Amino acid sequence: MAVADETADVIEIRFDCLSPAEFDPPGELPHEVLEKILSATRKPILTTFRTKDQGGTRDLAAEERINFWSTGYETDLCDLEEDVVEDSWYWIWGERICSFHDFSGVPDDVDAVYDRLSKTGVGILKIAVRADDITDAIPVWKLLDKAEKEGKRMIPIAMGEPGKWTRILGIAHGAYLTYASLDSGNETAPGQVTADDLINVYRAKELDKNTEVYGIIAGNTSYSMSPYIHNAAFKAAGMNRVFVPMQVADIDAFMRRMVKPETREIELNFHGFAVTNPHKQAVIEYLDEIDATAQKIGAVNTIKIADGRLYGYNTDAAGFIEPLKQRFPDLKGIKAAMCGAGGAARACIYALKQNGADVTLFVRDTAKAAGLANEFGIEARDLPSKDAGSPFADFDILVNATPLGTKGEDESKTIAFAEQLGGIKLVYDLIYNPTETLLIREARKAGVPVIGGLEMLIEQAEQQYRIWTGNSGAGSVMKAAALKRLQQQ
Ligand code: NAP
Repeated sequence: MAVADETADVIEIRFDCLSPAEFDPPGELPHEVLEKILSATRKPILTTFRTKDQGGTRDLAAEERINFWSTGYETDLCDLEEDVVEDSWYWIWGERICSFHDFSGVPDDVDAVYDRLSKTGVGILKIAVRADDITDAIPVWKLLDKAEKEGKRMIPIAMGEPGKWTRILGIAHGAYLTYASLDSGNETAPGQVTADDLINVYRAKELDKNTEVYGIIAGNTSYSMSPYIHNAAFKAAGMNRVFVPMQVADIDAFMRRMVKPETREIELNFHGFAVTNPHKQAVIEYLDEIDATAQKIGAVNTIKIADGRLYGYNTDAAGFIEPLKQRFPDLKGIKAAMCGAGGAARACIYALKQNGADVTLFVRDTAKAAGLANEFGIEARDLPSKDAGSPFADFDILVNATPLGTKGEDESKTIAFAEQLGGIKLVYDLIYNPTETLLIREARKAGVPVIGGLEMLIEQAEQQYRIWTGNSGAGSVMKAAALKRLQQQ
């Protein structure tokens, strides 16, 4: 309560989270317990007492719920489900929310649900559904317009990571309120953002319909650093812009129904996107133009939207090469061993070759990498085993573009150990979480200079920022935001 008191405008108390033993008789909370809870804050309280199939924490008998509400928990707001709302006229005089939850998906006719809730006569309507893909949120989001036209107050929520944007942009588009968790890991519904992030990272209370919306299009946005980096830069520059996670499974549906001006069903004022796995190539067919670099790499990681047209760019190549050129201003003839043959490797190979370096691929599956190798006219070799002596003796630079070393199950893995780095003049690890990977530690042990993935991450983000805003100089703000976020994880 003390933490919520510092950040929230309204504090929701989920009374169904209390143990059944607190209630005596069932559903009735002793007066002194209630007093103790309520006296912990002067902020308005939203009371909720929800049974399990409506998203509560335990099964509640009908009698328990009737006991609870009829005892007269007269707080500022009461959240009631449809089945108790009719009787609540006798018990509750304060402001009420009539809520509907669907944790399994989106009902076929969300409009009919809205009409039903609307007929109860309750002043605020809440509809929360589960989104499995980003476009699942469209029907519930459209209700905001309907509610505005009918003079109703509305809380539309698409639960889950693909619906996170509804929580961040809701207030800007007229939602009555948005829910946030106190801490990461303590969310009361899927996809909830922490109150700290909602207020200080996304600035949800400062946004409006004119806010320019940017986002990261990714198959999984939950680990993305981009919202932290770009929102910090927009905030520092005092821009009315926000950067939102856009978790997309079906890129065609997303581009058609939410982005392309000719076909989109809702208006979010999109101005640009960062794009990452697995959409960097698939997104190209939806763009009006792509620049020469992105064309040659065959992948787009940045989109700018101007006058209804979509322009594609690739900032990975420049993001990779700039930090390297600070150490090796002339890369001509330099021999680079590139480990990994995915999307990142593709951009790195392009940049190295552009600068005159010789590149050799090291991969776990040479047949799979043959296409990339042929495209760039380079050789693909097997990644060396643990006991190979000095497998990179003929090379100057070793680049890791595999996930080996990433926080989690790959953290204790490396493409090479200290004793295998003979001949190498620089190790460049694309991994940025953790900032000190096992490979970086091994390189230090061998006395080999290193570049960590954070430098590339920030450099490519700075280039994105330049494309979107025309400005530069956001690097230090971005780096500080990234380091802060990495410490939280
Ligand atoms: P990707 O497209 O999935 O490619 C990953 C590559 O690594 C593939 O060639 C894959 O081989 C190989 N690989 C995966 N697991 C492996 C293992 N256990 N042993 C050996 N090789 C393995 O990913 P990406 O987009 O290229 O990204 C690669 C890494 O770079 C990621 O960890 C990402 O975080 C990092 N990255 C950093 C930045 C930055 O700004 N610092 C930017 C982009 C990417 P298969 O094809 O055989 O699976």
